[in-house]
Amino acid sequence: MVVGEIAVETDVVVIGGGPGGYAAAIRLGQLGQSVVLIEEDKLGGVCLNRGCIPSKALIHSAGEYHKLGSLGKMGIRIPTNDFSFEMEGWQDWKGGIVSQLNKGIEHLCKENGVTVVKGRASFLSDDRVGVETGGDFETYKFQQAIIATGSRPFIPAFIEVDHTHILDSTSALQLKEVPKSLAIIGGGYIGMEMGMAFAKLGSKVTVVEMADRILPQVSAGLVREVTRNAKKLGMTIKTSTKVENIGLDNGKTVLEVTSEKAGNETIVSDKVLVTIGRIPNSGGLGLDQAGVEMDERGYIPVDAKCTTNVPHIYAIGDITPGPALAHRASKQGIVAAEVISGLASSVDSPLIPYVIFTEPQIAGVGYSKEEAEQRGFEVKVGQFPYRANGRALATAEVDGFAEVIVDANTHLLLGMHMVGADASNMIGEGVLALELSARVEDLALTMHPHPTLSEVWLEAAEAALGHAIHIVNK
Ligand SMILES: Cc1cc2nc3c(=O)[nH]c(=O)nc-3n(C[C@H](O)[C@H](O)[C@H](O)COP(=O)(O)OP(=O)(O)OC[C@H]3O[C@@H](n4cnc5c(N)ncnc54)[C@H](O)[C@@H]3O)c2cc1C
Repeated sequence: MVVGEIAVETDVVVIGGGPGGYAAAIRLGQLGQSVVLIEEDKLGGVCLNRGCIPSKALIHSAGEYHKLGSLGKMGIRIPTNDFSFEMEGWQDWKGGIVSQLNKGIEHLCKENGVTVVKGRASFLSDDRVGVETGGDFETYKFQQAIIATGSRPFIPAFIEVDHTHILDSTSALQLKEVPKSLAIIGGGYIGMEMGMAFAKLGSKVTVVEMADRILPQVSAGLVREVTRNAKKLGMTIKTSTKVENIGLDNGKTVLEVTSEKAGNETIVSDKVLVTIGRIPNSGGLGLDQAGVEMDERGYIPVDAKCTTNVPHIYAIGDITPGPALAHRASKQGIVAAEVISGLASSVDSPLIPYVIFTEPQIAGVGYSKEEAEQRGFEVKVGQFPYRANGRALATAEVDGFAEVIVDANTHLLLGMHMVGADASNMIGEGVLALELSARVEDLALTMHPHPTLSEVWLEAAEAALGHAIHIVNK
């Protein structure tokens, strides 16, 4: 890096230190580029500070707490009701995890020669950014830039999030007490993950969803298991229901909702969590000055090399159209860094896995049966239930199934999806199988260790071929 009269010069400026931006900056450092990473808040972005990690910590704690009530059937005796959950204690535990990971990223940036600048960046032109750093204004001149400014919760105009009664996902993860009752607007993955966690901790949860089912992006068969469990947890789910108004009355929140089935209804609860989508952080970035185009929703379109309409400016992660997922952001970040460094890299695979940390978990990669058929494939499906798997029985995790979607003519695997315990970890096998263009026989011929949940993949593959051992083949 060279300090000039007007601006600090660097090869690459990365704006935003989330999983997209910091992965890009570290990869650029590895490839010998001088790189300035500008972050206005904390390294790790939404994912580490108020998204993936804190929410999964909450879900894990809620799951452990909830299990305590059902250990008796395994012969484990706990004095009745002699356990409780303290949200403040959980906040301390979560804070420790986040801080450890923050420090880890800081260390990795330092070790890879990344200069981290704390402040808010905006483009001054197509080769300069200005950064407001606590009263000062610094200018950086770059050869190339990566925009990785991410997204924030979308809140409709008629709702005012006060972070006390009406929460977004960030404030819900900062609660000091478990609310006695919680209404959730939006039955997408964040709403369902957090709703199930709070229900396990004792909240009376009501989910209001405008679509005709929760998790509308996921196959109906997978969602059925989650809906059944939500009811077991005492949750109320109102689908095809629209929120018309939201207010406060005597310290309680009041939701007015309408549906064709029930007409007008009022839902009174301690708190409301609004989780109906995310919007890109593209405002105030000076994109006009740099000549970078956005679409009508504020996303920055990019090609497979993550290039914007300005060839030396790249965009990655939630600021670009596509699923708002941390692993997509990191992949794009690494690709952008490699392209900038002259490597032949691109985001060339359509395979973006997804995981939903509900009870049970849902995970998948590739096409669903419906998507494969819509694309003209003749499809074979192999399914295998958890309850026929020895390990699932031995760990009392019998809900769910694994499903392989196969091209009936070539036997190529087109999709692998599952709902069940530990789906989040087991989908790795599916991602690798599809990435390597495996056939269903490859999966069926692979020796899977016993007794493990991973055997459900083996038997789903065998079921597609008509010879699973532990179920009757039809
Ligand atoms: C509750 C919740 C749970 C989630 N769970 C999962 C999950 O389980 N799995 C998963 O894959 N994804 C999950 N996500 C989504 C995931 O967090 C995002 O997809 C991911 O963080 C996007 O990464 P990013 O790098 O694009 O942006 P972000 O993580 O949004 O980071 C952008 C960074 O840029 C900074 N910034 C913005 N503007 C400026 C500026 N002008 N100057 C300087 N800095 C700026 C911000 O402060 C922020 O730190 C979850 C999200 C939420 C909210």
